[in-house]
Amino acid sequence: MFSLHGTGIGGGIVIGRARVLESRNRDVPHYRLQPSQVMGEQSRLETAIEVVKAELFELAEQLPAEGPAEARALLDVHGMILDDPALAQAAHEAIRDHLWNAEWAFSAQAGHLAAQFEAFEDAYLRERGRDVQQVAERVMRVLSGSSTRPTAMSEQAIFVAEDVAPADMLSLRAAIGFGIDLGGATSHTAILARSMNVPAVLGLGFASHLIVDDDHLILDGEAGIVIVAPDETVLAEYRRRQAAGEIERERLKWLRSVPAVTLDGVAVELYANIERPEETEFALAAGAEGIGLFRSEFLFLNRRSLPDEEEQFEAYRSVVAAMAGLPVTIRTLDVGADKALPALGAAPPQNPALGQRAIRYCLAEPEIFLVQLRAILRASAFGQTRLLIPMLAHNHEIDQTLRLIEFARMQLRDRGVAFDEGLPVGGMIEVPAAALTASLFVRRLDFLSIGTNDLIQYTLAIDRTDHEVASLYEPFHPAVLRLIEMTIRTARRAGTPVAVCGQMAGDWAATHLLLGMGLNQFSMHPASLLRVKQEVLRADVSHLAPRVERLLESDDPQQVRALLGRLVED
Ligand code: PEP
Ligand code: MG
Repeated sequence: MFSLHGTGIGGGIVIGRARVLESRNRDVPHYRLQPSQVMGEQSRLETAIEVVKAELFELAEQLPAEGPAEARALLDVHGMILDDPALAQAAHEAIRDHLWNAEWAFSAQAGHLAAQFEAFEDAYLRERGRDVQQVAERVMRVLSGSSTRPTAMSEQAIFVAEDVAPADMLSLRAAIGFGIDLGGATSHTAILARSMNVPAVLGLGFASHLIVDDDHLILDGEAGIVIVAPDETVLAEYRRRQAAGEIERERLKWLRSVPAVTLDGVAVELYANIERPEETEFALAAGAEGIGLFRSEFLFLNRRSLPDEEEQFEAYRSVVAAMAGLPVTIRTLDVGADKALPALGAAPPQNPALGQRAIRYCLAEPEIFLVQLRAILRASAFGQTRLLIPMLAHNHEIDQTLRLIEFARMQLRDRGVAFDEGLPVGGMIEVPAAALTASLFVRRLDFLSIGTNDLIQYTLAIDRTDHEVASLYEPFHPAVLRLIEMTIRTARRAGTPVAVCGQMAGDWAATHLLLGMGLNQFSMHPASLLRVKQEVLRADVSHLAPRVERLLESDDPQQVRALLGRLVED
């Protein structure tokens, strides 16, 4: 028996046999061609690309109507990668100019493109590098004459692989779990596993080398653990946990329509974070009271041109309409030179996390920003809409942003287009400087939203995407907690609504702590919402507040964790 640890993406516990999928790191044949072979080699590559495109098309056609909402979009992304001249065209040129064989030319270009994505600071964009590799792997398989699909398609098994392309994942409909060497919580594989409702652990390192077919496995998607060849005692324990988990999930569904009110009568608002318009469905199914964070940048990724005002308006309007009167908070573009949009082709800067990202980027590109501001304003005519600005640190950034919003309003008035004249404008508190000067923010903005993911990164100087320093990324560091508490206190004193919309809002171990700090708006991934609601229903804020005050006096992260555990138990 041994265990492997990675990033659990939820879905509970499964117990079953392993099916190990072929590694994508096959040896790529390298040889030089005779000049007379160039055309033949180019057409061999062209055919392989067409075969893969046809297969992606066929998979899209076979998608059941009730299949994962993201599936078609993922297949489209892979199709677009195949169409990208940066890949196919460049590979053709490499065959012609360097006399490389098709496998060599294509894998070299794919590696080059994937490396460009992987250099981004943003975890989502880095995962897109993996999409490029997955597409390349499919083309390689066709070039080598082997099947492009995994074999055991209908087998009830826990699939273990170095990586699984989303398209392959869709053919593994009978999978009861996934254990994957690569990837993280924002990879497409993780996104699909979540929407297929299958437990998965990613970033396992060498699972596909250490596990063999038919190994008996326990996969815990919550804890991020895979136990190989468990003994009877461990098996019995996990069977018990599995049964308890099922009961718990069923029980939580009953909370959907229960108002989130603490034992001492404090009403708490629980909102959902979404990345794409289709996800409003999950938000509503979880009983969210609105969208607390719509990460609009996801509309701008994986494409060669920027979405125009009409396209953006339609996306924002569809979310506002789907939420049927519930508030929708649309965050403006959180990209920058570090997350260069493919359409703009900018090179990644030296120090991406500290570069021209989010609002800094938008203020430097007012024409692009104004298009988005007009689209959001127009959507506000269709329901309760709020506009949220990421990464603010300076007063003048707020002033400049408000001036641009006013300018966008004027443009719409001139065009005679309707919008909500009172559209609330809020700011994200993600930089320590913003938390420390929150009193300035509340004077200019209608609401605040604390982005703990970035606030932790910038307070502790830990790159949130760097595995090497992941153990130092400590959400409960006293410095982080004091900044959060300070922001909540300042906002409450000024009567300004304040929410937390980073990962901490969906971590039920932090619910009592945040309630004790006076927070009553949380926004999180829809999958966490009912579990957090359960904690809200158990909490007594009047009892928690003095304890949290004492906890915040501690300078020792370990002591903070111990006190945190006691907040929940007592
Ligand atoms: C955050 O930083 O906490 C946040 C919600 O924004 P993102 O995770 O998109 O950077
Ligand atoms: Mg952020």
